[in-house]
Amino acid sequence: MKYDYLIVGTGLYGAIFAHEATKRGKKCLVIDKRDHIGGNIYCEDVDGINVHKYGAHIFHTSNKEVWDYINQFAEFNNFVNSPVAVYKDELYNLPFNMNTFNKLWGVITPEQAKTKIQEQIDELNIEEITNLEDQALSLVGTDVYEKLIKGYTEKQWGRDAKELPSFIIKRLPLRFTYDNNYFNDKYQGIPVGGYTKIIEKLLDGIEVKLNTDFFKEYRDFEKIADKLVFTGMIDEYFDYKLGVLEYRSLRFEHEKKDCVNYQGSAVVNYTEKDVPYTRIIEHKHFEFGTQDSTVITREYPKDWSKGDEPYYPINNERNNDLFEKYKELASNHENIVFGGRLGNYKYYDMDKVIESVLDVVKVELDK
Ligand code: FAD
Ligand code: UDP
Repeated sequence: MKYDYLIVGTGLYGAIFAHEATKRGKKCLVIDKRDHIGGNIYCEDVDGINVHKYGAHIFHTSNKEVWDYINQFAEFNNFVNSPVAVYKDELYNLPFNMNTFNKLWGVITPEQAKTKIQEQIDELNIEEITNLEDQALSLVGTDVYEKLIKGYTEKQWGRDAKELPSFIIKRLPLRFTYDNNYFNDKYQGIPVGGYTKIIEKLLDGIEVKLNTDFFKEYRDFEKIADKLVFTGMIDEYFDYKLGVLEYRSLRFEHEKKDCVNYQGSAVVNYTEKDVPYTRIIEHKHFEFGTQDSTVITREYPKDWSKGDEPYYPINNERNNDLFEKYKELASNHENIVFGGRLGNYKYYDMDKVIESVLDVVKVELDK
């Protein structure tokens, strides 16, 4: 039996591609080495609470096409991410906004906050921004950097903030209003009933094989399919022959607590270097749950080595250059599409994954 597409990965990218290809009459086989569908957006029902097994996932986008697309498969609630940060025995609102500045310095007006930050920036004399530390310091000054950024960032990435690319910190808004919304995007929410249901709908009627590693069972994909869509690690696909791309991994510690409300917020960040985890998620708050118990997850960053889950690409210059070489190699394989966070080696949020797969669908399936 010959398939039009073998799709490796049941994450958002693989599932959307499979859905769109099937809609256009293509025959697809979708495989995943995990024992469940959904990739990193997989949720598990624990006593009626949708537990985000691979870390907090909040959907947010400013792209209406993406928002309309995903809303075909789920209804989204009105959750707004407004995490707090704990530094020693102090608690601050995120992202960096007037509530944060008021708590830090007692300032009340935006003018006062701007003056305070500018005084700190002026003292530093940063001439050229080449890394995350310089970028952060020249945006928010020393106090915010030392209390809310440096410790979190260095444990999250396992390296000095001077060795990290500046774009990472630009993910966080800085605003001079009393607004604790973590994102600037126009649309935001959590799918009612969890993310796995979205993937179930996308893959409805499509052949899926779990516990199936491409490298063990389908290396010679051409025997069964005309084309391959690969959402695993691009360097692994090529046997690391140009070098190993670096990733950052995580360990999730899930715990059921016999209380109604453990921390009063879906996300609490621990910004001190000495606390070994970066954040604690309390899942029920994503859907305003009223269950008698609760489930929390501590997120411990860890080094990645072959065999670990590659949660984050580390997009520094060395790795981006190496990725470009793999991309060039990939361009010689016209029957393979590399996609998703790992196939494209990009720090993509879910909306960017959807954007990129829909772009590929236009070229690959609608040309
Ligand atoms: P994945 O979900 O990683 O799917 C790839 C799949 O391929 C996996 O299931 C894997 O098992 C499978 N696979 C890989 N190799 C093989 C192989 N050799 N054989 C068979 N199967 C294979 N985005 C947001 O928008 N908002 C958030 O709040 C947010 N929070 C996040 C928090 C964390 C901790 C992490 C890690 C990511 C977060 N993201 C968030 C990003 C989001 O998870 C990704 O954008 C999205 O899940 C990527 O989808 P994907 O299909 O590219 O990859
Ligand atoms: N960050 C920080 N302090 C925080 C939260 C985030 O310094 O309390 C920095 C850190 O470097 C992190 C980056 O901002 O890697 C992006 O944060 P985001 O919440 O987007 O991370 P993700 O959810 O992708 O892990």
